[in-house]
Amino acid sequence: MLEDQALISFKVNAMPSRRVFLQLVPAAGAVLVVTGARAQTQAPMVDEKDPQAAALGYVADAKRVDKAKFPKYAPPQHCAVCQLYQAPATAPTGPCAIFGGKQVAGPGWCSAYVPKPA
Ligand code: SF4
Repeated sequence: MLEDQALISFKVNAMPSRRVFLQLVPAAGAVLVVTGARAQTQAPMVDEKDPQAAALGYVADAKRVDKAKFPKYAPPQHCAVCQLYQAPATAPTGPCAIFGGKQVAGPGWCSAYVPKPA
């Protein structure tokens, strides 16, 4: 009986107070935001030699597009103004939906290019 009371007392005292809980929730949220941002910036760059990239004619600089192989390319098409570019147009690199979230160069291009709506 005395042991039960001691155990209950321990459990009640071990539980964090409401104030401590309310202090921990924003801190945990901040950690998640920072972790998520870091994960996004750590995505690898698409390699032009990757089979999927090569098949789509991806180049990190649209000036190097093989125009004979990809005649639909026309300046000023490039990744930063493509609908599938998941970063602001001013960002030097950004994740691309075609490449599973891997980073592509803003000045790059591939044959899956879709212009952003005006
Ligand atoms: Fe660039 Fe768009 Fe091709 Fe992705 S789909 S590599 S953003 S041109």
